[in-house]
Amino acid sequence: MSELLRKIERATSSQFFDQTGRNEGKSHQCSPMKILLEGTCSFDCAYCEVCTRKKGISFTPDELAHGFLELYHQGKAGGLLLSTGIPRGDVDLGMERLTETAKILRSSGYNGYLHLKVLPGANRTDITEMAKYATRLSINLEAPNASYLSEVASVKNYSTDLLTRHKWLAEIMPGKHSTQFVVGAAGESDVDIFNTVMTSYEKYHPARVYYSAFYAISGTPLEQHENTPVWRANRWYQVDALLRLYGYERAETSPVFDEDGMLLNADPKILLAKTLPEVNPVTAEFAELLRVPGIGPVSAGEILKKREEKNVKNPDVLRECGVIMKRAMPYLSLGKYKQTTLASWS
Ligand code: SF4
Repeated sequence: MSELLRKIERATSSQFFDQTGRNEGKSHQCSPMKILLEGTCSFDCAYCEVCTRKKGISFTPDELAHGFLELYHQGKAGGLLLSTGIPRGDVDLGMERLTETAKILRSSGYNGYLHLKVLPGANRTDITEMAKYATRLSINLEAPNASYLSEVASVKNYSTDLLTRHKWLAEIMPGKHSTQFVVGAAGESDVDIFNTVMTSYEKYHPARVYYSAFYAISGTPLEQHENTPVWRANRWYQVDALLRLYGYERAETSPVFDEDGMLLNADPKILLAKTLPEVNPVTAEFAELLRVPGIGPVSAGEILKKREEKNVKNPDVLRECGVIMKRAMPYLSLGKYKQTTLASWS
């Protein structure tokens, strides 16, 4: 292995993406490689190990591009998620170097996945230039509002450095941008996160929102802070899917939160279905079918098609449609087909 690839291996084992990008791409050799161009940063995000480093591993754009391409051609990286620390607070230089890396990759014939992180406070011209080379751009909001962000980062201005850039990304790269929250770092409630996520989906239409459970990294200002249970971030992904893919509205989701505004550790679709009347598959509209656990967009569509000619109260027909009967049965109105024992359904 070359010295460059050894350096990349050391850099990609950094905890930075454990905290700020854990859920993007699974731990598979062909998932996107996540790496920082500059391994030091003068910002002070209290959850981030990079801000504590005196000296981190850094690359020139040329080094990083060619090292990545070598790994890509060896089948060891399926794409690239590239960010950077911000030494001396020079955001413009950071953006320039990220874009330079992207240019080298594209001019070398690389046409795969390239997710570039936009830096807090980046100027619009630089973002527009960066967008020419990226598959996806993102800026991490990290916390649900300015007050919470100020608990964990004093340099970034929530409104101007983050929210305005989030809005710009929606204009520059509509539907191809994303953001992320570090869940639990600032002591926020899940309702706080929910309100910001809903506003983001309603106004800026990001392709995805990512949720990373905060965990305390030794040496950071938050090293004594309680870890966020991983289930909380996982429940966020379930709630997010209901908002993004199933069309749930703001007003109907309150049953997923407890009285303190925290997510309940239970399947959110089931929590919501328990508050609704049973659904008759013969007469229900698409949106009503989607609210039944065990029915997704594909199986809901199949029910609508098949009910023209078949009895969709019959569990065998529903199964043919792709319905997971064990989940769906308690929430469906099936007349004589309704079983009293769930155990016989699978
Ligand atoms: S801006 Fe914050 S999160 Fe990003 S590298 Fe610097 S300290 Fe870490």
